[in-house]
Amino acid sequence: MMRSSKRRSLKKWEQDMALQRISILFKLAHLCHSNRPDRSRRYMKLALAIAMRYRVRLPAELKKRVCKTCNTYLMPSNTVRIRLRNGYLVYTCLECGREKRYPYKRISWRSDNK
Ligand SMILES: [Zn+2]
Repeated sequence: MMRSSKRRSLKKWEQDMALQRISILFKLAHLCHSNRPDRSRRYMKLALAIAMRYRVRLPAELKKRVCKTCNTYLMPSNTVRIRLRNGYLVYTCLECGREKRYPYKRISWRSDNK
């Protein structure tokens, strides 16, 4: 059973390490999502588990790349459909159909993918 009485505090380096692992998992998921979707889903599950365990927030650009419902790595035109609707970018996960909306103006495409 979990005991909350002895909750140790997380060190900064532990959280840095966690973030590093998470970004590696995202890279791995990116590499294998087309031939091995099952594997990329496992990487995503792990990344989210690490984030939760070390209480780190996923960077915004990584957050947009994973479906929180089914852990699918979201790849435009492959596992996610992106539409512009009422000033929002609507991401629809093609695996489970979950929609997520992001305000359009806050997303810059230029800094992405480069
Ligand atoms: Zn999904």
